[in-house]
Amino acid sequence: MAETFSTLEKNILKAKGLSDSQLDSLIASGIGSKQDFQTVGDASTLCQLVSGIDSPTAHAVMNWATGQPAAAAVPATAQAPQVIIDTADVIHCVHCGAKQPKDYKSGDLCTSCGKQAEPVFACYWCASAGPGKFCRQCGAEFLPTADLDLGILLKHDGLPKDIIPERLRAMSTAEKDVLWGRVRKLRG
Ligand SMILES: [Zn+2]
Ligand SMILES: [Zn+2]
Repeated sequence: MAETFSTLEKNILKAKGLSDSQLDSLIASGIGSKQDFQTVGDASTLCQLVSGIDSPTAHAVMNWATGQPAAAAVPATAQAPQVIIDTADVIHCVHCGAKQPKDYKSGDLCTSCGKQAEPVFACYWCASAGPGKFCRQCGAEFLPTADLDLGILLKHDGLPKDIIPERLRAMSTAEKDVLWGRVRKLRG
């Protein structure tokens, strides 16, 4: 009897996007432990072994099983948060365009029209929130609020931070619908 995955491992594989039948087909092909993924080696081989698995899912599974790229590819120094500082620190109100005073702080109300001078967004990458176009914690470009959950899903799939906003902008409604299906499945 070949080794099989623990309940936890099965749940993780499903969270990565595998359906029950794909999980069965994975096990039927002889993969029964995290170790076996090392033998599989890469996502394209996994696609050949498991029918119906899509490439982002295969990548997500391989990233988890082989511990890449988070562990291997990124040197520790590159992890330091990249803080974006506005040049000259001049903020203009998004509503009326009025220039805000020198002592303006993120979140302040516009001195001219009284509305919040900058819209506040949640960051899909590091989950902090803030005004402006880019996250001040990690430098990620903020996504439109409607795409936030999709950004989180793509991060989960292992896509790099600077690719995700671009990728979402290029997507058709149908492609986004497929992603939304996976978001709902993960929420379970
Ligand atoms: Zn204003
Ligand atoms: Zn961030």
